[in-house]
Amino acid sequence: MESTLTARDRVGVQDFVLLENYTSEAAFIENLRRRFGENLIYTYIGSVLVSVNPNKDLEIYSKAHMERYRGVSFYEISPHIYAVSDNTYRAMRTERRDQCILISGESGAGKTEASKKILQYYATTCPVTDHLSTLRDRLLQSNPVLEAFGNAKTLRNDNSSRFGKYMDVQFDFRGAPIGGHILNYLLEKSRVVHQNHGERNFHIFYQLLEGGEQDLLSKLGLERNAQKYQYLVKGCCPRVSSINDKNDWRTVRKALTVIGFHEDEVEDLLNIIASVLHLGNTQFGEGKNGENQITTETQLKYLSKLLGVDGAALREALTHKKITAKGEEMISPLSFEQAVAARDALAKAVYGRAFTWLVVKINQSLAFKDDVYNSSKGSSSVIGLLDIYGFEVFQHNSFEQFCINYCNEKLHQLFIELTLKSEQEEYEAEGITWEPVKYFDNKIICDLVEGKHKGLISILDEECLRPGEPSDISFLEKLEDTLGGHAHFVTHKLSNGKTRKAVSREEFKLIHYAGEVNYSVNGFLDKNKDLLYRNLKESDMSPLWRFDEALVRHQVKYLGLMENLRVRRAGFAYRRHYETFLQRYKSLCPGTWPNWQGRLADGVATLVQHLGYKPEEYKLGKTKIFIRFPKTLFSTEDSLEA
Ligand code: ATP
Ligand code: MG
Repeated sequence: MESTLTARDRVGVQDFVLLENYTSEAAFIENLRRRFGENLIYTYIGSVLVSVNPNKDLEIYSKAHMERYRGVSFYEISPHIYAVSDNTYRAMRTERRDQCILISGESGAGKTEASKKILQYYATTCPVTDHLSTLRDRLLQSNPVLEAFGNAKTLRNDNSSRFGKYMDVQFDFRGAPIGGHILNYLLEKSRVVHQNHGERNFHIFYQLLEGGEQDLLSKLGLERNAQKYQYLVKGCCPRVSSINDKNDWRTVRKALTVIGFHEDEVEDLLNIIASVLHLGNTQFGEGKNGENQITTETQLKYLSKLLGVDGAALREALTHKKITAKGEEMISPLSFEQAVAARDALAKAVYGRAFTWLVVKINQSLAFKDDVYNSSKGSSSVIGLLDIYGFEVFQHNSFEQFCINYCNEKLHQLFIELTLKSEQEEYEAEGITWEPVKYFDNKIICDLVEGKHKGLISILDEECLRPGEPSDISFLEKLEDTLGGHAHFVTHKLSNGKTRKAVSREEFKLIHYAGEVNYSVNGFLDKNKDLLYRNLKESDMSPLWRFDEALVRHQVKYLGLMENLRVRRAGFAYRRHYETFLQRYKSLCPGTWPNWQGRLADGVATLVQHLGYKPEEYKLGKTKIFIRFPKTLFSTEDSLEA
């Protein structure tokens, strides 16, 4: 017992509900730190898995590890992403209900890596027949392709996802993966034409230039040197030590083939990538008569060839605009600045559409095909994987953070609802009396943002469409008129006519569930007309093996982990069917060993009493035992691991 306790002290508790001082953030973080020090990066809060990014390869993702988690109950083995994967899979199969795994956290937290590990788990452990192995390969290969076109090096993450992804994996009645679907949203298109210092454009540009065969580059009119391309030099960061663009190019080319892209489709895609680079190098200057004109003829020639458009029409489109005056269509020349903006807008639009097309093609290739596999006419179920941006608070927050934080607000609502709801349903079904926990319901904030007519988004949309001269400031004034006085909305104006210093004249503050954020309205109207893009604050957030306490504390707070723990703590951390429970632990009690002959519930009662649980520490339901904090049972699980 002594040595076990020492081991537990060293590795911390594997479920936060077992934490003595469960209301203390410091104790929470200390537990994470201890576990991290022992290479234990996963910890539960009930059925929620908290993961700390190790930023180094750990030997915990082998096939043997996957096998260990197959069919094993959540609390009987140390916490792991595979346990969540397996539990979700089994819930889908036994309950015949669709499931979803939500992954949230700040940029660089490890969301995408987690989603890939889940997918790998299913690809390796699920039953797969020969003709389904093609689909399995396509599912796995969709990742390098999407990452090449949708991920980039940022200051916080060398492989940061610049789009949100929701992926469905469809399983047949035997539990074999038979199809998939990807929903993408909010691609950060602005990155195509601009990158902050120390950041890069999307990976694919560098991969093509580094890895593309010489013939291919010549055909596309490209040189093997990223420094030559205006859209690739803004961040002064063409090479990244952790990235091998040449190898990644090979991986992506192979993946495109596995997914089923025809050669001419790949050609079209690369033509577009090359045309974006040529657009970036398209320059404007003054002509003989003072007019603004294109001064880079070679670029124009390649653009017209690669995009398949007439050169003269393209020249005109980049230097003129059509306007309608008094019912007549007229052509008016663009100024230098306008032409640059039109060029950049075209580059963003072309890239954005190529990305959308890419996802459509991947979806076609992952779609469940009845003719290929017709034995699954029966029911099928789906596991969804959500990998989105996490809650963001910078010194300067704008439209991008507003969208991201609203998205997280909705996710939080879902998360709390689901964890509480399923918890309550289970207690009810088992006839367990339970005192519901009070928690902050963030519906009030969601309504503030999304409410019809009176919500922030409605007001923004209306202002964008309003005739006259709507501006960011007129939008802010509308917000003040409509939402002033709302408990979660604050501007610089005080009701007594004075001004509040903490919020500037161009800002409004939202009191989110996760904290207060000041948003600058500058650019809100323009950005709302287009898709989202994200600016990242300069940071130094270093990929070293160390426990960054400030980073951890911030996320513990903004992910609402303490609140979640409070909810979990009020209920029962552990529950198991009588039969399973007896089978596993009967050897711990002479009264139940080797076989219990009476009612299962009585056997379980005998066992838990023998283990020293007091009546208030457990409840016997109709089919299951519920234990508040099953310390004795878990005490050895991951001390064995460490
Ligand atoms: P973003 O929001 O920027 O897309 P993210 O949360 O998706 O960030 P990832 O790209 O998954 O972050 O992880 C960032 C990096 O951290 C990975 O490229 C990898 O180097 C490392 N990493 C993440 N999870 C793990 C893990 N489980 N083991 C080892 N390294 C990891
Ligand atoms: Mg990511």
